[in-house]
Amino acid sequence: MSEPSRRVLSPPAIIARKRDGHVLTPEEIAAFVRGATDGSWADYQLSALLMAIYFRGMTPAETADLTSAIMRSGAVADLSAVRRPKVDKHSSGGVGDKVSLHLAPMVVVCGVAVPMMSGRGLGHTGGTLDKLEAIAGFRVDLSLAEFRDQVDKIGAAFIGQTAELAPADKKLYALRDVTATIECIPLICASIMGKKLAEGIDALVLDVKFGRGAFMPDRARARELAAALVAIGHAVGKPVRAVLTAMHEPLGRTVGNALEVAESIACLHGQGPADLMEVTLALGEQMLLLGRVAPTAAAARRQLLAGVASGASFAKFREIVAAQGGDVRMLDDPARLPAARWREPLAAPGGGWVQDVDARKVAVAALRLGAGRAKAEDRIDPAVGVGALVKIGEKVEAGAPLCLIHANSPEALAEARKVLAEAIRIGPSPGVAPALIGEVTE
Ligand code: URA
Repeated sequence: MSEPSRRVLSPPAIIARKRDGHVLTPEEIAAFVRGATDGSWADYQLSALLMAIYFRGMTPAETADLTSAIMRSGAVADLSAVRRPKVDKHSSGGVGDKVSLHLAPMVVVCGVAVPMMSGRGLGHTGGTLDKLEAIAGFRVDLSLAEFRDQVDKIGAAFIGQTAELAPADKKLYALRDVTATIECIPLICASIMGKKLAEGIDALVLDVKFGRGAFMPDRARARELAAALVAIGHAVGKPVRAVLTAMHEPLGRTVGNALEVAESIACLHGQGPADLMEVTLALGEQMLLLGRVAPTAAAARRQLLAGVASGASFAKFREIVAAQGGDVRMLDDPARLPAARWREPLAAPGGGWVQDVDARKVAVAALRLGAGRAKAEDRIDPAVGVGALVKIGEKVEAGAPLCLIHANSPEALAEARKVLAEAIRIGPSPGVAPALIGEVTE
């Protein structure tokens, strides 16, 4: 069969070329992304091409072209006036992952600016923006000009995906969500990198999670995703590093928005849980190395810890929150954060060791409590969630609390209790969680 003409840019012709396994030209990819942005392609045509890409894949060059087209589908933030190196961090999403909140100020006090465009929680994973909105008054809808000014003056700002930045991704992601085309490495790469590159960053650190609480549970597939993301960085001339991290049990001891803010504040006071701090430091080291403000990972770690010990990182977080309208009294006294009506322990059925804490099941419990969204339009309750969670390998006495359930209705409390009782397994010997920090791809 002869290949259709490369000059024909009609949606059916482009869809047919990908359906038949051909490599799309940059012009064809640009036409597809333009069609998603200006509405000139119908949803069924966009969806058909997404499915063809899902089955046929994309070459690294096609993926890089798709990334650039998504990046250019809207404005690209101009942060050239910011004199510090600008490095962002993106996580592929997990349970209890509140790292961005405290990592950003920790990195800023070491001399790197952090322009952070974050997402909202969907399904079993939480979102940085929802966590920050647990702080009364916190605004995530900054304009691009406000974003740029804040990054310049304070060193960091947190914004949501605006209509101005990478609008094609918003459209394509929504279609992928309802057409079973999310789990496709070229589409994931172009979606993440297209948005991130539109932020005007110099470099990017990616936290690619694997394990049952991760978006990509299989370690080999997560490694493949990490390599593909880093390859796009090379193709577009931006340094990108990916750190593989385990998401087997929840990160830290809390899942739920206000609870996670309080845990991030504890990290900034040097009192964060060991696993959460380990992931934070592993990512922070790479950010400082890419920002060229530390000569080695060990030196970067010392700088990050010094900022916490001196109180500078907490003060920086306070400054960021104040600049975005948040009530800093909640940071000074986390007891002022939204609190649930019921706080009930889940008691250990017997003594022994924690063999397992299933991140996905804990996420389901948090979702039932109202801490997350099953659908994009669902409202979340900032106060509810699961706190004081035990960690795999810890010893527990019979009747001791395995976690504290924060609920705003007795029905949700009962449901969450049932799910958590299945999520946390106690046995005669300690369970072993996979090593938290895996390889770094660069
Ligand atoms: N996160 C994104 O931003 N895009 C994807 O495609 C998957 C995860």
